Amino acid sequence: MNSPLLTTHGLQAFYGDAQALFGIDFTLAAGELVAIIGANGAGKSTFLKSLAGLVRVPRETIRFKGEPIGGLPPGGIVRRGLAMVPEGRRLFPSLSVEENLRMGATAARKGPWNLQRLYALFPILAEKRHAPGTSLSGGQQQMVALGRALMSNPEVLLCDELSLGLAPIVIREIYAAMPTITGEGMTVVIVEQDVTMARQVSQRIYCFQEGRVSLEGKSGELTREQISQAYFGIEAAHA
Ligand code: ATP
Repeated sequence: MNSPLLTTHGLQAFYGDAQALFGIDFTLAAGELVAIIGANGAGKSTFLKSLAGLVRVPRETIRFKGEPIGGLPPGGIVRRGLAMVPEGRRLFPSLSVEENLRMGATAARKGPWNLQRLYALFPILAEKRHAPGTSLSGGQQQMVALGRALMSNPEVLLCDELSLGLAPIVIREIYAAMPTITGEGMTVVIVEQDVTMARQVSQRIYCFQEGRVSLEGKSGELTREQISQAYFGIEAAHA
């Protein structure tokens, strides 16, 4: 087997004295799309934030292309090739769509993504390029947030709850862009509460429960029962 692109080993994370992650072992191969599912508070966002340098963790617990990157500053991690689409979009309210997208290019690496490619992927953004980002619908804002991350031409795209607060038809529209994105050789990690969507778009799934991995496997092979047990825990599954 080729050596993995990204691994975490025994990853623990804390907010002050409160522990949020209790030893996450995770592997990501180049070109994969992996989904992380789990209930509210399971630690999914904390895990992505640790990968992106937004939550400090010990250096050796995260390795990207064999190099330890845990706890590096977020800008350094973007330059190495990991970019995050944060939960809740986080657009710059005073900036236009295009200016928001250009913000992603400030740490740009060489690669296929630029404004032209993004506008081809999401034509509505070309139409609204001069509108303030915050005047867009939730789905369009999500496209800008995704586009902003792509503009840094990452090797690994980390997406936190793309579907949050969006109607099912809009969620499908956003996820319809994934084959084009992965078709360029991008490796993707999505955190997703919509388990059906997570199973559809991913090759592998990790389920988190209370800061631990409760299940890992190929998306097509995991059963609904396995997933609901891992998602809600033994007690809930037997209740
Ligand atoms: P959600 O779907 O609600 O975002 P999640 O699986 O992403 O859930 P996290 O947001 O990673 O879960 O939260 C994991 C744990 O860390 C929870 O117990 C949460 O209360 C705690 N936590 C998250 N952010 C902070 C913070 N900024 N300060 C203190 N505790 C936090």
